[in-house]
Amino acid sequence: MPEQPFAGLQFEGTLSTDPREIAYAAADFGGIVSRPPSAVARVSSSRDVSAVLRFAAEHGFSVTPRGQGHTGMGQAQSASGIVLDLSGLSTVHDISDDRVVVDAGATWAELLAATLRHGLTPRVLTDYLGLSVGGTLSVGGIGGTSHRYGAQTDNVLSLDVVTGDGVLRTCSPTEAPDLFAAVLAGFGRCGVIVRATIPLIPAPARVRRIKVYYPTAAELRAQQRKLLRERRFDFLQGQIIPGEAGWLHLLDVAAFHTPPAEPDDALLDGLGFDAARDKTEDLSYAEFAARLDETVGYLETTGEWRAPHPWANLFLPDHATGTFLDGIMSGLTRADLGDSGLILTYPVPADVLTTPLFRVPDAPTVFLVAALRYAATGAAAEQMVESNRRWYDTAAELGGTSYPVGAIPFTENDWRNHLGEARQLIAEAKTRYGPRATSREAEPQQARKP
Ligand SMILES: Cc1cc2nc3c(=O)[nH]c(=O)nc-3n(C[C@H](O)[C@H](O)[C@H](O)COP(=O)(O)OP(=O)(O)OC[C@H]3O[C@@H](n4cnc5c(N)ncnc54)[C@H](O)[C@@H]3O)c2cc1C
Repeated sequence: MPEQPFAGLQFEGTLSTDPREIAYAAADFGGIVSRPPSAVARVSSSRDVSAVLRFAAEHGFSVTPRGQGHTGMGQAQSASGIVLDLSGLSTVHDISDDRVVVDAGATWAELLAATLRHGLTPRVLTDYLGLSVGGTLSVGGIGGTSHRYGAQTDNVLSLDVVTGDGVLRTCSPTEAPDLFAAVLAGFGRCGVIVRATIPLIPAPARVRRIKVYYPTAAELRAQQRKLLRERRFDFLQGQIIPGEAGWLHLLDVAAFHTPPAEPDDALLDGLGFDAARDKTEDLSYAEFAARLDETVGYLETTGEWRAPHPWANLFLPDHATGTFLDGIMSGLTRADLGDSGLILTYPVPADVLTTPLFRVPDAPTVFLVAALRYAATGAAAEQMVESNRRWYDTAAELGGTSYPVGAIPFTENDWRNHLGEARQLIAEAKTRYGPRATSREAEPQQARKP
């Protein structure tokens, strides 16, 4: 390698080989693998992104885009390549009655703050809003309103993308639809999203949130299925939480409304709501959207926010979710999830999940099963990662898929199986739009130890 390998790279942002920048880009929320890049390019415009990608193509560097680095096992890292940090490309541009144009590095919190000033909201928000728009559009993005609207990738009007040849292109369902399909949930393989146009709807002013506990996971699922059919709630989730006296099975639902309209008195009908045990609360929509802030604050004080996070995110066909959960829960202890660990589980009808690269089981309804695990030590993290892999193998046998944002070791062969026929979309887009991959040639999440 030449002594100053990046000498010819000119752009308005910054390129750094400083050890602190390298350490920043070698780390992620998962805290399990660490792959130092050769350099970190902080970009502030699509011109910058083009300049870096052109330089990388000419000089044989791989480039990995990074939003907030909240993936679990190196998906936004680049061993010896260039990490393209988009956090400075974060302007919220035009907001009209039904859409917003936003730079990819903006977080959903920044985007929502801007749209709420106009009384508007994106249809689907992730539970935690500190993720970048480009980051979740590159993986999927699912939340409590997904049962109505699908993933965030199902709610995009158009994208500006810099492809592997360094060219800025606009794509949408009608303009370069092949590129649009290869980029959404594409983990940066076929281009860097620099800007997105996202549909907006009127934001409700108020939210009635209802939490009800059930004795078993099967009863929780039965309620979730019933509520999904009835479309009673705007927001539908659920959790399995370790309690003092065993597992708690929490239905977490919410109805949106704007005064003078009031929430329907019948919301609690048939839920088995027990005022002594369960809870309703009325919140503003902004408070509801930011509901995880308090938890994040707490996890920062306990140190768990910075600890390794071997999260396992899976989708199961409805009919196999019980078998899968019974299997992984038998013998599972609180220690296996970590002090603040829990398992998110909720249903989504598959017909609203239309993004080709967002791979879900072939079933009318699928359940997200996301084990949010916190490891106190590196050794504990390693064991959790190993069990994640076993859980994935079991899920795959039952027709399940991985939502590959967490820490399930995945080989190139696993990716091949995961993507199935949709691999063709990626191959064709690479041939048409980029002389080489913008991301590293290997797949975004590989089983490698630090
Ligand atoms: C606390 C927490 C809460 C979460 N909650 C949810 C949730 O409710 N719903 C949900 O679906 N997921 C959730 N996730 C998972 C999250 O959606 C993904 O990890 C997401 O990728 C994080 O966004 P990011 O900006 O950190 O992306 P990064 O980790 O920076 O990047 C993710 C992937 O996308 C690529 N990429 C990033 N930006 C771009 C771009 N502009 N163009 C092309 N490729 C790009 C990267 O190379 C990488 O492969 C959560 C994760 C955490 C840690």
